[in-house]
Amino acid sequence: MGFLFRIGHCFIHEYSILWYYYFTSPLPTKGELPVAFETKEELLSRYLKMEKPHCPHCDLEMTLWEVPPINFSDGLGWGVPFLFVCFNDDCPSYKSGWEHMHNTMETPASYRCINEPGQKNFEYMPVFSPMGGTGGKLDDAAMIAQEAEREKLDQTLSVLDNYYASKDWDEILKIALDALIPGRARLKAVEMVKELAGVEAIEYLLNHKFPTPVLQAAVDDAISHLHERHFTRECPHCAEIIKKRATVCKHCNRDVPRSV
Ligand SMILES: [Zn+2]
Ligand SMILES: [Zn+2]
Repeated sequence: MGFLFRIGHCFIHEYSILWYYYFTSPLPTKGELPVAFETKEELLSRYLKMEKPHCPHCDLEMTLWEVPPINFSDGLGWGVPFLFVCFNDDCPSYKSGWEHMHNTMETPASYRCINEPGQKNFEYMPVFSPMGGTGGKLDDAAMIAQEAEREKLDQTLSVLDNYYASKDWDEILKIALDALIPGRARLKAVEMVKELAGVEAIEYLLNHKFPTPVLQAAVDDAISHLHERHFTRECPHCAEIIKKRATVCKHCNRDVPRSV
């Protein structure tokens, strides 16, 4: 009782559970939409830094939850990509919900307490099994790791720009070789090395294993480019770097065929 039910689009969840949305509060009318627009990624990034609300029924910390994609064209749906949800199976609200829904809707269902990030009020969404909705739970450790990776990428890219401006290629080379740096930043570093580095860089690139084919291909390309720029090549016998025009290797003293 006292609930305003609105049945939204049903769809197949990843757990093959049919989902409906209902609202316990009036829907926002047109024109009330927030002015500032953030991408889903930006929102997630902001929500991850938020203090998590506590469920008003069981006082446990709520879980950030990704709202499954549904069709918003009928004006139903939350219109937000993330919600905080109480997934506590012992939550009094959730436990009594089964009975309440059975009596009022004759449906084996319950509801979980939800909170739109940043909002003061708590609302409810229906679930049709204890598993309902749990597929959208955002694993904190994984999300935080992903967020940290993204920040590291941004940071490294801006550091690279500075080194590039000052032509500090040995620092750029260090980034290219650093296994802890995100792949995209390493790729950028390799491109800068290719353009700026001295002949000494070749040896480091040759002796390093790169984790992805894309990165390795960029490194191979950089090596041949550096040889070309510095008029060098590898000795066919000992693989040391020698002058392109050399006829005897200065490292192993063996005759080397002239390069074309
Ligand atoms: Zn609760
Ligand atoms: Zn040699």
